Amino acid sequence: MTEQIKTDICIIGAGPVGLFTVFEAGLLKLRCHLIDALPQVGGQLSEIYPHKPIYDIPGYPAINAQELVENLLEQIAPFKPGFTLGERVEGLEKQTDGSYLVSGHDGTVIHAAVVAIAGGLGSFEPRKPEVKNLELFEGKGVNYMVKDPELFRGKRIVLAGGGDSALDWTVFLSEVASKVTLIHRSDSFRGAPDSAEKVFELASSGKIDLLLKSNLLSIEGNDHLQYVNVQGSDQSLIKLEADYLIPLFGLSPKLGPIADWGLAIEKSAVVVNTVDYSTNVERIYAVGDINSYPGKLKLILCGFHEAALMVQSAFKYVYPDQKLSFKYTTVNGVNAF
Ligand SMILES: Cc1cc2nc3c(=O)[nH]c(=O)nc-3n(C[C@H](O)[C@H](O)[C@H](O)COP(=O)(O)OP(=O)(O)OC[C@H]3O[C@@H](n4cnc5c(N)ncnc54)[C@H](O)[C@@H]3O)c2cc1C
Repeated sequence: MTEQIKTDICIIGAGPVGLFTVFEAGLLKLRCHLIDALPQVGGQLSEIYPHKPIYDIPGYPAINAQELVENLLEQIAPFKPGFTLGERVEGLEKQTDGSYLVSGHDGTVIHAAVVAIAGGLGSFEPRKPEVKNLELFEGKGVNYMVKDPELFRGKRIVLAGGGDSALDWTVFLSEVASKVTLIHRSDSFRGAPDSAEKVFELASSGKIDLLLKSNLLSIEGNDHLQYVNVQGSDQSLIKLEADYLIPLFGLSPKLGPIADWGLAIEKSAVVVNTVDYSTNVERIYAVGDINSYPGKLKLILCGFHEAALMVQSAFKYVYPDQKLSFKYTTVNGVNAF
């Protein structure tokens, strides 16, 4: 299906930073259209950790990731952004007037004066461990992400990994599943020390099983996963009965076609000027986790700040004859389109 959309800013990525860019742009009367490869908005928050609390959003001592996404949607609603979801951006074509045609893999074309790349980690590709039969049971007991914890209620779960996701989901699922086993190849964790401490406490109180210095070997079942075979710390074979295996070995960031647009790239991120988060290509900006600059922190609040500065710079491409005057929202309010 071909669809041609005209807007001021085409935002690639509808994660938290892409969403908040709509708000900051709207204050300056700049219209936005977002395009995202995922079928839902929210980026990493909705895809990886929708039920986790976030503690470092200003003004919220704690807020669930999905709730933050809902709040952002409510906040940007007055500016009526357009959305194309479930479509990966493939092409970028500069027009003679300096504007761009951004095209998605399913035929959508967005014509915009400015492009804001808010692509986060890029397309999500989970890192898969080498485990015999792993791919045979994908969708039949092997899940690389916890989208809906209710799926695991009353089930026997085996998690594997040593980072934050493995630790946090072990703690969370210990309250939901009938049995939780965490397998880790080392005896120390890479994740946050207080999460590791909680996991050790749960293990010593018998609420979970913790297999350290152990490795996943293979999985078995019929039309659904039934057993996870593990090599224990003493090299013995341990056969665990399991309804689900959740290997959490991180996501490998794939920049995809963005890497071919002539942008300066450093360690899979787009290099920007911190004055306005512009890239080396005129009218193309990069905000949020996708960008790179000295001192960059991949935090939501940093992306929000970047979005606010970015739109101030983008304004001149949409309204070349107007002078931008800065106004507080407390003075000017939020004037819908
Ligand atoms: C487990 C975990 C816990 C975290 N906890 C915190 C925390 O407590 N506090 C905090 O501040 N941060 C936290 N973070 C980091 C935070 O999630 C990121 O900083 C934030 O998601 C970045 O937002 P973003 O909008 O830049 O990118 P993302 O959320 O990654 O969204 C980018 C979007 O772009 C889309 N996209 C990419 N390439 C394309 C393409 N070619 N075409 C179409 N769409 C594309 C992707 O599908 C994705 O939806 C955590 C991260 C993880 C994994």
